[in-house]
Amino acid sequence: MLGTGYVGLVSGACLAELGHHVTCTDIDARKIQQLQLGRMPFYEPGLAGLVQQNCAGGRLTFEPELARATAGAEAVFIAVGTPPMADGSADLSALFAACHVVIGTSPNRFTLLIQKSTAPVGTARRLRQEIASCNGHGERLEVAVNPEFLQEGSAIENFLHPDRVVIGTGSARAERLMRRIYAPISLQGTPLVATTLESAEMIKYASNCLLATKVSYINEIANLCEAVEADARVVARGMGLDRRIGPKFLHPGPGFGGSCFPKDAQALLRFAAERGVSLRIVAAALEVNNAQGERMVDKSEAALGGLAGPRIALLGLAFKPNTDDIRESPGLRLAEMYLERGAAVVAHDPMAVPNVMATTVGRSLRFADDPYEAVRDADALVVVTDWEEYRRLDLRRVASLLRRPVLLDLRCIFKPKDAVDAGLDYHSVGLQPLLGGRRGPEPRTAARREARSANLQFVGQTRSPAGSA
Ligand code: NAD
Repeated sequence: MLGTGYVGLVSGACLAELGHHVTCTDIDARKIQQLQLGRMPFYEPGLAGLVQQNCAGGRLTFEPELARATAGAEAVFIAVGTPPMADGSADLSALFAACHVVIGTSPNRFTLLIQKSTAPVGTARRLRQEIASCNGHGERLEVAVNPEFLQEGSAIENFLHPDRVVIGTGSARAERLMRRIYAPISLQGTPLVATTLESAEMIKYASNCLLATKVSYINEIANLCEAVEADARVVARGMGLDRRIGPKFLHPGPGFGGSCFPKDAQALLRFAAERGVSLRIVAAALEVNNAQGERMVDKSEAALGGLAGPRIALLGLAFKPNTDDIRESPGLRLAEMYLERGAAVVAHDPMAVPNVMATTVGRSLRFADDPYEAVRDADALVVVTDWEEYRRLDLRRVASLLRRPVLLDLRCIFKPKDAVDAGLDYHSVGLQPLLGGRRGPEPRTAARREARSANLQFVGQTRSPAGSA
């Protein structure tokens, strides 16, 4: 396994769990040395145990020397990053560098180079040409495509029990080997889609962009719900029960983030444009997503009567729950925009804080050890990531700790009535604000009473009478 990041390490550990002998390597030798000591480079539920179990079983090893790790392997997966370049296209330099590691080991038996990284349609064919042009390995070294569909936070379950496995190959021999690798999964009844290199590459992009589109679609509908006094959660539920639509990726929120959707949508747009094809729906999904982030800041500004000065408790910096990944995280983006507009931010996340501390934005944030500490004396609570522990927050306690009773539930995790009953003004996505602050517990100090009445006055001015709690 060349590349031991989120995909490489999970895939390596899971392939070992399926009974294969796997060696994971990475250009970051320190990462491999840490793994040799049993230390995980990132948080993924269940991963540490799975790695440990398979290392103990002798099926999983870590090797810092790239060439030594790949030499003699029957199949070499490449799971390196393919990050976006300035123009949106995918940076394939790590993929080609990894391919050259394998070429350099001059395999003397049939070896399958498996492109697991997400890369534009045509990349596998380019890798083939690279192999052919470098030396005479053409017959011994073949290329296959095996896109990965795991989701961080539930990656092990996703890998071991996927909806489907997609394999793109250019020969019957390569297909046979791929089928052998995935036999333990296909024997469970999981469909295996065997196709060409190009179609396999396209399936990955087309799937991710449809999911991103679904998110942007429900967010646009949610924005309209706010204007017409409909409730987007109920609307989403009513839509999602239609089996042709399905409930997943139909949750109103602050927009999509993470290491895949934004980058894959940009890359697909880019390589389609290079071929003279305009993908208007994908472009719109990205545009709506960018605007949704801005909309969350405007919403906060309206709820607080301005962002210059207030202290905001922001819960959730990982781009989704159960991961410490902050790539393109809506929480981090929101924190940055709050700071730009003059607010102070006290943030909390169960797992992602060390990663955030290493960023520029992170240096301007304050961090709290637990959600209630973040909320203490803040002017608003903003929930951006739907970690399970946030769903269980005691809203009455939150109301008693806040300086002003403002809750922005950007993931729609609370029942509006619970928030209002706790004395909070409830702002969400796809629902008009509901005022509970007026009925909440008495402020503890004169200063708080003053702050609260100032806020209520403002909120009262912005909502329509029909939106009253
Ligand atoms: P990552 O950044 O977590 O891991 C990539 C790893 O590759 C890093 O450890 C890096 O050090 C290593 N690397 C870089 N250049 C290398 C080289 N030349 N040789 C060996 N190792 C090298 O990235 P990731 O999230 O695991 O994503 C990997 C690929 O899988 C990307 O193409 C991504 O789009 C795709 N993917 C990611 C996910 C996801 O949820 N993260 C899901 C499906 C597909």
